[in-house]
Amino acid sequence: MKTIVREPVITSPFGVVRTLPDGRQDIHMGIDFISKTNDRTVFCVAQGFVAYDFDDYCAIRRYEKPNTGGNMVIITCVIGGKTFHFRYLHLERNNVVKGQVVPDGMPIGVYGDVGYSFGAHVHLDVFTADWSGKVNPLELIPLLKGV
Ligand SMILES: [Zn+2]
Repeated sequence: MKTIVREPVITSPFGVVRTLPDGRQDIHMGIDFISKTNDRTVFCVAQGFVAYDFDDYCAIRRYEKPNTGGNMVIITCVIGGKTFHFRYLHLERNNVVKGQVVPDGMPIGVYGDVGYSFGAHVHLDVFTADWSGKVNPLELIPLLKGV
């Protein structure tokens, strides 16, 4: 089974309008996951290559850049003949580098409370090939579902 974290729980689903603890409202165009375990390892859910990785967020003060996703990894993959970009946000650190080929199930980092985040979690969102839109990750990977 494909899992993004061990024993995943979805803490914020795709497409909901949310009011965040600081009063801002947004439409959540990704899915937030936490693990029921103490293990914060994040696993690749769709194999591909690393298009982008960012590691330096921890040097930036927490709310200095409120829209950022903290440290992140973007993995470009092909599903059903179509290209998608899977973006994993709010990582405390990542352990992959740009250009690396990453199989399903490989640990790619550790989630944290990093960037514009209220509590440790990993946010997964999926962009279309030309980056013009976002897709519900569960439409591509149904088994990803948390409880
Ligand atoms: Zn999120």
